[in-house]
Amino acid sequence: MNDELRVLIVDDDKTNRRVLKECISGIAQVLLAKNGHQAIEKAIELQPDLIVLDVVMPDMDGFSVIETLRNRRNTEHIPIIFITGSGSEEVEMKGLKLGAVDVIGKPLHPGVVQARIYTQLQNVFQRRLLGSLANIDALTTIANRRQFDEVLEKEWNASLSRQTPLSLVILDVDYFKKYNDHFGHLSGDRVLKNVALTLKDSLNSENALVARIGGEEFAMILPDTHLEKAQALVKAAIESVQALNIAHPASKCNPVVTVSAGIHSFIADQVLNREAAFDLADKALFKAKENGRNQFSFTDNLNPYQAIEIETGLSEF
Ligand code: GH3
Ligand code: MG
Ligand code: MG
Repeated sequence: MNDELRVLIVDDDKTNRRVLKECISGIAQVLLAKNGHQAIEKAIELQPDLIVLDVVMPDMDGFSVIETLRNRRNTEHIPIIFITGSGSEEVEMKGLKLGAVDVIGKPLHPGVVQARIYTQLQNVFQRRLLGSLANIDALTTIANRRQFDEVLEKEWNASLSRQTPLSLVILDVDYFKKYNDHFGHLSGDRVLKNVALTLKDSLNSENALVARIGGEEFAMILPDTHLEKAQALVKAAIESVQALNIAHPASKCNPVVTVSAGIHSFIADQVLNREAAFDLADKALFKAKENGRNQFSFTDNLNPYQAIEIETGLSEF
């Protein structure tokens, strides 16, 4: 199905581990643990997609393992299949109540084991696919508004707790209505895709996010980035869009497609909320538009309660 999926087998019995491994190795990558403690360590560290867990083990049994994993934020979501030789309804019920997605009885029948594990892996795969589609903008294939909101919340909290700088950038294609009017909506769509991927490439950082947050509007979240660094990144991004050299004869600012940007750099505090930060980046964008487009403006929150004087960024390239 997908060799990226990984299954952690937890069993104290060597023969069982071998049988289970043989059942799974054709459909997923196999990880092994001999006891409960090792299972927890490996689950936390390796983040398997599915755990096949023996109930009866010395020291720490399967029930204790599932309880521990369910109580940790980074393991609570991992589906678990119980393996039990007891045949008792009570054991099966207890496993299911603790959140196991399935219970397989011993002796192990390889065909049945494989089919049941396959079903669970399919569920994992489909959930993951749905999850990633929900975060992607269909036209441009970059992050969408939803992912932007999620990442902004996360990075806002990180900035708040660590008091590290965060820069928020909003970018907007210049005179894009005129582009559509001149070349048609389909050509406009191609430009949006091209601009989106160019903005994404220009950042070239694992932590930074570029998202399409509206029709011809994009945003960047730049963690650990102070104003000066954000300015350099945004300048490079604006230049790389211009360098695409996409003819835009109807534009009033430049013969090629360009974008304008507004930057707000800050360290999150308890008072100024995310919406206010977004608003300040948006005001900076407005200023860049007003000043002639194909440029950026910026602001920071050294004095968040005073009227913000937005300084003008570059006006020509
Ligand atoms: P400004 O420089 O002030 O930003 O001018 P503008 O024309 O870009 O701004 P305005 O907000 O007036 O128009 C935005 C245009 O973006 C209008 C709409 O046709 C176009 N647009 C929005 N979403 C899409 C889309 O998904 N595809 C295409 N082709 N065009 C879009
Ligand atoms: Mg717009
Ligand atoms: Mg526009």
